[in-house]
Amino acid sequence: MEFIPYSRQSITDEDIAAVTSVLRSDYLTQGPKIAEFEHIVAEYTGARHAIAVCNATAALHIACLALGVTAGDLVWTVPNSFVASANCARYCGASVDFVDIDAETRNISIIELETKLREAEMNGRLPKVVVPVDFAGFPCPLPQIRALADRYGFLIIEDASHALGASLNGQMVGGTNWADICVLSFHAVKIITSGEGGMCLTNDDELAARLRLLRTHGITRDPSEMENAPDGLHYYEQIILGFNYRITDIQAALGVSQMSRSIERQAERERLSQRYDDLLSGSNLKLPARQAGAVSAHHLYVVELLDEHASRERVFEYMRQNQIGVNVHYIPIHLHPDYGRLGFSAGQFPVSENYYHRALTLPLFPEMTESQQDRVVCTLNDALKVDG
Ligand SMILES: *Cc1c(COP(=O)(O)O)cnc(C)c1O
Repeated sequence: MEFIPYSRQSITDEDIAAVTSVLRSDYLTQGPKIAEFEHIVAEYTGARHAIAVCNATAALHIACLALGVTAGDLVWTVPNSFVASANCARYCGASVDFVDIDAETRNISIIELETKLREAEMNGRLPKVVVPVDFAGFPCPLPQIRALADRYGFLIIEDASHALGASLNGQMVGGTNWADICVLSFHAVKIITSGEGGMCLTNDDELAARLRLLRTHGITRDPSEMENAPDGLHYYEQIILGFNYRITDIQAALGVSQMSRSIERQAERERLSQRYDDLLSGSNLKLPARQAGAVSAHHLYVVELLDEHASRERVFEYMRQNQIGVNVHYIPIHLHPDYGRLGFSAGQFPVSENYYHRALTLPLFPEMTESQQDRVVCTLNDALKVDG
C-alpha cells in the first residue's frame, strides 16, 4: 500500500532548472537571486520590505532583536505552535509566557489576551512583544491585537510560517500595518519551499535596515551608516553584533521559481480542504472553522475527535498502520520538558491542552489526488468505528 505523507513539497522541472542555473553561475550565495526572491514576496504580500534569511527560526530571532527584546523583557506567544515561536525570545535572554487559544479558531484568544494584559498591567509585567501565530494558515485576529498593542504598548511579530497567501478583510498577510514584523517559513513542508528558508516582512524602513544588519554580522558597507570615515573602497564596519543568517542563491532560486505557482497551489489546497469538509461533514469530528473575512492558506487540515471515548492515539496508530501519514500539530509548547524547567506545567492553558489531546492532522498537499484523499477519509471512518 502506498504511504500518503501529511505534507509533501512539489518540485517541477522548472524548479530544478532554476536551481541548476545558479549552480552554473558566478554566485552560490550573496548573489542576485536573494534580492529577486525578496522582491517577489514583497510584491505578492504588499510588504514594503522583505529580508530573506536561512530559516524562519532565524527570522523570529532577528525580529525579536530588531524590536529591542533583551534580558529581563517578556514575550508572549501561544502554546499551540512550533517551539520556535517561543524560543526566539529566549535566544535574546527574555522570558516567555503564553496566552491560550480560542477553541474555534485555534488561534490566540482575544479574550484571554485582554484579561492577561489587564492583570499584567496591574503587576507591572507587560510584555514587550506578542507573537501571534496564523495557525494552519488561518490569519490570527490582528486588528484586535493591534488595538490592544496600541493601548498596552507592546510590539507584534506575526508568525505567519503557515500563512503565505492568506488574507484578512482583504489585506494580505505580511503586507498589513497591524504587525510590526511578519515572519514566513520556506521549510520543505510549508506553502512554498526553498529547502530551508525564512523571511521577515515589514513596512518600517528603520526596522528593515536593522534586520538586514542583524542578518549579516551587523556589518555595513554603506558609508552613511558608518561611525568612522571609510579608509578605502575595501572598508566595511561592524556596527552592532549580528549573525550569519543568510540564505543562499541556490535556495532563493528555488523560492523564486516556487512563487510562480503560489496562487494555483493555494487554490488546490483550498479545493482539497473544501472537499475534506464535504466528505467528513457526517463524521463525529470537529472540522476547521471557516472565519468571516478570512482567506486561509490551508497549510494544515486539522480535525478534532469529538467522541469522549475516542482515543486520538488509537486513531493515530490505526491511520499509520494503514499507511496514512497523519500528524499532530502541536504539542503545547509549555508541556515540553525544557519549558517545564522554566516552571510551566499541565493545566495552565486548558484550551490548548484539550485541543492537543483531540487533534489529528490529515494529509494535505497540492499534488494530493482525489483517490488518495478518499482513502484517507475511508481509513479515518474505519478508525473511528473501531475506536468507538
Ligand atoms: C515551521 C515553523 C517555524 C520554523 O520554521 P523554520 O523555517 O523551520 O525555522 C516557526 N513557526 C511555525 C509556526 C512553524 O510552523
